[in-house]
Amino acid sequence: MADRYLIEPDVNFINEIAGLGGEDLKKCFQCATCSVACPISPDNKPFPRKEMIAASWGLKDKLVGNGDIWLCHNCGDCSTLCPRGAKPGDVLAAIRQYAITDYAAPKALGKMVNDPKKLPVLLAIPTVLFIVVGLLLKLLGVNWLNFAPGGDEIVHSHFFSSWLVDLMMIPASFWAVAVFGLGLKRFLADIHANALAEGKTDKESIEPVGFVQALIRIIPTILKHDKFNECSENKDRSTAHMMVFFGFIGLFIVTSIFFIVLYVFQIHGPYSQMNPVKWLANIAGVSLVIGSSLMIKNRLAKKDDQVSTYQDWFLIGLALALGLSGMLAEMTRLGGLAGISYFLYFVHLVFVWSLFIYVPFTKLAHIVYRTTAMAYSEYGNRK
Ligand code: SF4
Ligand code: SF4
Repeated sequence: MADRYLIEPDVNFINEIAGLGGEDLKKCFQCATCSVACPISPDNKPFPRKEMIAASWGLKDKLVGNGDIWLCHNCGDCSTLCPRGAKPGDVLAAIRQYAITDYAAPKALGKMVNDPKKLPVLLAIPTVLFIVVGLLLKLLGVNWLNFAPGGDEIVHSHFFSSWLVDLMMIPASFWAVAVFGLGLKRFLADIHANALAEGKTDKESIEPVGFVQALIRIIPTILKHDKFNECSENKDRSTAHMMVFFGFIGLFIVTSIFFIVLYVFQIHGPYSQMNPVKWLANIAGVSLVIGSSLMIKNRLAKKDDQVSTYQDWFLIGLALALGLSGMLAEMTRLGGLAGISYFLYFVHLVFVWSLFIYVPFTKLAHIVYRTTAMAYSEYGNRK
């Protein structure tokens, strides 16, 4: 006898998916064209047809903890071919965004980050925090914030000391790691439980060594954007995505190196433009600016059958703001424009802090969740 399954639809979930860009999901009539069209859908239990029916039934638990939703790269091939205009690619993107905020805590912050009306508050928080902490330290005799740095040379750390920067950034980075860590723990438990229930695996638990080996095996695929390049409809997005991706990686490497140079070797900036690490910083910054600008261009030129949500614009805007403020602060420093350079440096710090604190709730968190899902898929030998 066939298994009986009691469906308990979550209407709020359906409405939230609609609000995140999946408003056409109810148009799906289950023809499965999308699953055939998807270039990266696995042969065993292909997607996204089954995800479309689960979404229209409001089966939140089946979707949020489903590793397959992260294998999709939102190329749009399925949305273009869908005969009903149900936009399955956008529905999967909406489910992923829902999953990101569902796994991250605290929920109140997640709501703020994804509410356009709260954007001024989100940016005001670090702006005020940096100044208040700097002034409080001043009262205690610690001069890490100097509104009139003076001197012939423009040195950003004379305005905003490196110690003050790190006092703000190190806890912020630990915060990001902790929020992601807790979210990933639940995420992995959920995708494994779903895989067990669907018969995709028979292992009771995930074996850590095997999982890490799988993670290492998928790194070349991620770096080369192989999956992205298998799509045809929006292949042009791959270049912009790669530029932003490598821009962030480059800046992460540069920040780590300069952190070691400062705290281990006690060498303070500004560092020479002839320094190879500076070259990497400049290349990564330019890559971030050009890549995010290309993303804006691509989204503005998008056809009507694809959706751009606030979450898309938030991510692209943050990447562009980070790259531009960093590059302009450096250029104005070299150009001798002290006041503007110090101001832009401060703006840059506000964006960097915002990136650390808000990233677990934004679309950028897909780097972490997608990598984990791809590693799990590789670990489970799901091709
Ligand atoms: S989303 Fe479109 S292509 Fe996919 S099953 Fe539904 S109607 Fe068919
Ligand atoms: S958007 Fe692309 S990758 Fe995602 S399900 Fe559709 S065809 Fe597959």
